[in-house]
Amino acid sequence: MFEWSDEHRAIRDALRRFVDEQIRPRLDDLEHHGEPPYEVLRLLYRTFGIREMALESFERQLERKIRATEQSEPAGEQRERASDPAASLLSTIELCRVSPGLVTSLGVSVGLAAGTINKLGTPVQMERWGRDLVALDTVGAWALTEPDSGSDALGGMRTSATRVEGGYVLNGQKTWITNGPYADTLVLYAKLDDGTGLDVRSRPVLAFVLERGMDGLDQRAPMRKMGQHASPTGDVFLSDVFVSADRLLGESESARGGGRTSAKDNFVTERAGVAAMSLGIIEECLRLSVDYARTRTLWGQPIGDYQLVQLKLAQMEVARVNVANLVFSHVERSLAGATPTLAEASAMKLYAAQAACQVADDAIQVFGGNGYVTEYRVEQLSRDARVLRIYAGTDEMQVVAIAKDLLAR
Ligand SMILES: Cc1cc2nc3c(=O)[nH]c(=O)nc-3n(C[C@H](O)[C@H](O)[C@H](O)COP(=O)(O)OP(=O)(O)OC[C@H]3O[C@@H](n4cnc5c(N)ncnc54)[C@H](O)[C@@H]3O)c2cc1C
Repeated sequence: MFEWSDEHRAIRDALRRFVDEQIRPRLDDLEHHGEPPYEVLRLLYRTFGIREMALESFERQLERKIRATEQSEPAGEQRERASDPAASLLSTIELCRVSPGLVTSLGVSVGLAAGTINKLGTPVQMERWGRDLVALDTVGAWALTEPDSGSDALGGMRTSATRVEGGYVLNGQKTWITNGPYADTLVLYAKLDDGTGLDVRSRPVLAFVLERGMDGLDQRAPMRKMGQHASPTGDVFLSDVFVSADRLLGESESARGGGRTSAKDNFVTERAGVAAMSLGIIEECLRLSVDYARTRTLWGQPIGDYQLVQLKLAQMEVARVNVANLVFSHVERSLAGATPTLAEASAMKLYAAQAACQVADDAIQVFGGNGYVTEYRVEQLSRDARVLRIYAGTDEMQVVAIAKDLLAR
């Protein structure tokens, strides 16, 4: 695959109309007045029948899980193969042209929270939380990061789960949690403290499902951030939160390799998704910059006539072609049922995120002073792009993953 098919282009055009009619008019509220993103995302789901498709896919996944549970099949057999991964990537790209924060919120709720429950959970757990999450009837958060762990997310984790009669008691703090302030359902990772004195770094990591309103669970208000204002991010505090044993994902402390494996599996999904987000930002910055270079006149000529401006436009186009090719190859591989390795997903993310930041920064330069004000939009895209180099693993952590893989060959 090297370009979108006619069918993809039709979906893309419909998405563009939706973005123009439904999102751009609300952008100010979403980006500057703290309007939570969920209603507009639900409208997207209703408009494009995504809710129904997600529910159908969920039912198939549930059925396979029930069958596999009865036959004790290995977990890998139960994976739902995306019928056309391009469709969801297209909505990521089109939403990112206008508000990458919407994609972050959606991706965490559906991709990470629902994805983890549906992969790791029992059929009962899928029905209890997964169905509403995939339909976007409820909002999900995925809580791994802590103030003192960050890049060292698994080793440095200190949130503890202590076994008690009927379940566990959780204590600790999570930070930077997307949808944290509004989430109805939270997938939360904690370290098992079984009293055997095992070094904290080596303790098993367990994944639990928590719900808004549980005693001792404190979901704090959204933080003020540099960008991605359409995506609420917050701290989550746990103070003696009792979770019954049926809230442990998989209802077994060793289910599918435990929480460490589950968290790492998500790294691949997240990192590949960042390439599509980057493409949306790059395409929009390029489009806006070319328009501006044609119309802004100085010394009697459009600034697009000046070679230093042309260089920026050409470099943006090179970035667009490269990132588009990464996305196309990801679509092809997904259709073939192939999952990228962690190193490959890291390479995609590292390159695409840096390219998006560079392109957005160059777009500001092409716009001059106008690039520095909200009205011309490139400043928002630049602020929004910046976090792509930080979340889902920093640039430096991608380098570590790639280098480790190369050196292990
Ligand atoms: C907007 C936003 C949304 C987020 N959403 C979520 C979410 O929903 N759920 C969740 O669990 N987390 C979330 N995160 C957390 C995110 O994944 C972390 O911010 C990220 O992993 C980096 O951790 P840190 O911020 O603690 O930085 P640190 O780990 O403290 O890193 C600081 C610096 O040190 C560098 N560094 C660290 N270790 C090394 C090393 N070994 N070698 C070289 N350099 C190193 C880093 O690359 C970085 O430059 C979100 C973050 C943001 C900003």
